[in-house]
Amino acid sequence: MSNVNGILWTFHRISPPRNEAKIHFFDNTYNVYPDVLEYYIISCLSKGFRFISFDDFLKNKNARGGERKNNEKDICITIDDGGKDIYQYAYPIFKKYNVPFIFFVNVCFLEKGFPTCIFPEFEATQFFFDYIYKNEFLKLADNIYPMKTIKEKQESFFILWDYYIEQKKKGIDSLAIIDEIGNSTFNMEEYHNKYACSWEDIKIMSDDPLCTIGSHAMHHNRLIDLSDAELDMELRESKRIIEQKTGKEVNYISYPYGLSNNKVVKYTKKYYKAACKLRLPHSNRTYAKKSDNLYKIPRQGFVCSALIDTFTAPQPIDYNKFADNKFIKLFFNKRVKKGQTYYRILGIKVPAKV
Ligand SMILES: [Zn+2]
Repeated sequence: MSNVNGILWTFHRISPPRNEAKIHFFDNTYNVYPDVLEYYIISCLSKGFRFISFDDFLKNKNARGGERKNNEKDICITIDDGGKDIYQYAYPIFKKYNVPFIFFVNVCFLEKGFPTCIFPEFEATQFFFDYIYKNEFLKLADNIYPMKTIKEKQESFFILWDYYIEQKKKGIDSLAIIDEIGNSTFNMEEYHNKYACSWEDIKIMSDDPLCTIGSHAMHHNRLIDLSDAELDMELRESKRIIEQKTGKEVNYISYPYGLSNNKVVKYTKKYYKAACKLRLPHSNRTYAKKSDNLYKIPRQGFVCSALIDTFTAPQPIDYNKFADNKFIKLFFNKRVKKGQTYYRILGIKVPAKV
């Protein structure tokens, strides 16, 4: 019987084009527009695909003997991080078409927003994009920079970002830096409410049989870099807090950045029944396999372009052309292994020019 275990998609943001889309290309790949999601669901249903929950996906994975079925037409939707847009835009679409989904949420992002999280894409950068988009000049220290054209706006982003990082290194609080940049008191609460789900949102979705809430750790750290104690805390506390907030058991986790190693898997087994990573988007392997490791379940990143033909293997994307992109360099750490320097972009190894 077939080893195919269906298709697992990973979404991060599902929202109409945001200000950043007008400044850099990320929105076009990272964010999926709600009408694209809806079109994708309708096309899949019309072609006889089934949307299944993560529990059912695992049930099929573990089925033995006569229970074992072909799952080529099964699709399981997974979402990472905890963005408000999922509640606002995606959840109503999932309800409309009765599509189950699992939402892996990062606890500190939900509770306090970007000052407690490591991942710059979360909100600090969102502030910069919103600020740059709305203003024509950037006043910073004693300098004034024009921000009228797209090119000027792109340049300003890096001026802002460098300044932000420099100030943070001096030990200045993120919000104080943003107050200074914006030349007014930054309303963190309002801002946070706009971009992160509240626990009420999570509870509403969690009470719906269509939704499963999973963990995406506490601080969105790279789990592979942590000490044993820190790793244990990230896994244990995120599970405990989400369970307390939803009143439901949390059995599944997706590793931040999809990163894991043997130590991470060993600790994950203490608290979770299964764990997800990210698959190389240029892999020809569209399906998950029943033989995949339960603690390294590979998911495919869903980008708008993947919609072009969802029923054949996705076309390979030439990530090398992004290797010199300044935004890539900002968001993805450069790494050196065995003398080779590269970035990891959505799980893809992209050689860096040095
Ligand atoms: Zn994430």
